[in-house]
Amino acid sequence: LILPDAFRRRVEEMDEFGVVHEYDDERAGETSHQGPVVVAFPDLMESGDFSGFNVLIHEFAHKLDLGNSLDVDGFPPLPGDIDPREWHRVFMAVWDDLQSRLARGEATPIDDYAATHPGECFAVCCEAFFTAPDLLHDAYPALFDLLGRYFRQQTLARLPPSADHARPEHH
Ligand SMILES: [Zn+2]
Repeated sequence: LILPDAFRRRVEEMDEFGVVHEYDDERAGETSHQGPVVVAFPDLMESGDFSGFNVLIHEFAHKLDLGNSLDVDGFPPLPGDIDPREWHRVFMAVWDDLQSRLARGEATPIDDYAATHPGECFAVCCEAFFTAPDLLHDAYPALFDLLGRYFRQQTLARLPPSADHARPEHH
């Protein structure tokens, strides 16, 4: 489903000090178990280049993730030639690296939204695999190799030479 605009919902969250924060959560897309993939038109229009951002890839990664459980947990059904222990080990290494970079106040090589949840880590890594493969390959070569075997694609080979000129800085 394509919605004309980003969708907002009111979120209330209690922090570790018991203070409740309210804010408007703006979403580019949403996926649920057996439900439709929903994306916002403006974000769809921003997808499709080599910027590292792609709302469709992100949401369909969640859809793949939901193929074996009701949870978006970063663990999709795996082909027989990928050992689940390898999947777990490689993704945990990326997860730990993102967490420690953020704890040190450093920039992360991929969108730091990946550090919010294991399911988001998988979805953001899929976005990077297809739309910023050079960046993902440099930062996390083992993960890049794993996703190459998972999707059976060589995304680095089809990256246009001019791709990094169009890419916004990561902060
Ligand atoms: Zn997501």
